[in-house]
Amino acid sequence: MYYNQETVIFLNGKFVKANEANASLYNQTMHYGNGVFEGIRAYDTPDGVRIFKAKEHYERLQYSAKVMHIDLPYSVKELEQISYKLLELNNFKDAYIRPLVYLGDNMSLTPTNEVHVVMMAWEWGKYLGDSLLRVMLSSFQRPNPKSCFVEAKVVGHYTNSILATTEAKSKGYDEALLTDMNGYVAEGPGANFFIEKDGKLFTAPLGNILAGITRQTVFEIGQELGYEIVEKFFTPEEIFNADSAFFCGTAAEVIGIQSVNDYKFPLEWEDSIGAVIQRKYKRRVAFNEYHNVYL
Ligand code: PMP
Repeated sequence: MYYNQETVIFLNGKFVKANEANASLYNQTMHYGNGVFEGIRAYDTPDGVRIFKAKEHYERLQYSAKVMHIDLPYSVKELEQISYKLLELNNFKDAYIRPLVYLGDNMSLTPTNEVHVVMMAWEWGKYLGDSLLRVMLSSFQRPNPKSCFVEAKVVGHYTNSILATTEAKSKGYDEALLTDMNGYVAEGPGANFFIEKDGKLFTAPLGNILAGITRQTVFEIGQELGYEIVEKFFTPEEIFNADSAFFCGTAAEVIGIQSVNDYKFPLEWEDSIGAVIQRKYKRRVAFNEYHNVYL
């Protein structure tokens, strides 16, 4: 599904066939989850293939590496150039790009000097599909920011996301919504969360969530269109009073939510601010409205 005989990946400075690449089973990332990664999308635009907000994604990758004491040997510009080359070699136009920084053999709980960089890409539909989602408030909370760097995309953090998603799906829902350690609404397992109430949007402030690049794009679009977007802590009860809601993330883009637990949002999705932002987001990524490429 992710690769075939022809697929090329980037591994430690070289482009190699995916089915010929290998890694040591003693690596620290595999044993303890100490590695960092990104999830990025490229779009086939009228100007050619364009990676949306590559700079922001690679700056976040550098931040993630830094806080985890990982010495990432590539600059933002180099990572961007590698990504475009990877897309070209695989002949991808609309694709998802997954850079992963994983570490060498180390069974101790200490920093590891051997750093590996792998970058893969595959053609991937919208992560949460196109239909409105039935969401479950998770029994799991997002990691306590005093236990880790929540704004870093660290491999090990995603066990929390897997537990929440598995719980929601096993109960017949499409997706989970997690609270933070204080019980305030935080985010989904792989996407940020917004509610609409009386013509305004509300979302959790930074501190206990991943600083989503799509979340930031929603702010930019909202501002351009004149919508008020408020960052504040809010409880699940406030969701059950809201008019509408959506998730946003690179993989999922902007996707509307039909219900949370038994509460169905009263506003028709097509009439919501989320739907306006969803349409604008699609245009922004597909028509290269955002110019930040170095190339
Ligand atoms: N929250 C979590 C936990 C995520 O994994 C993601 C996906 N990276 C997001 C939010 C959305 O972030 P972005 O918009 O940068 O993809």
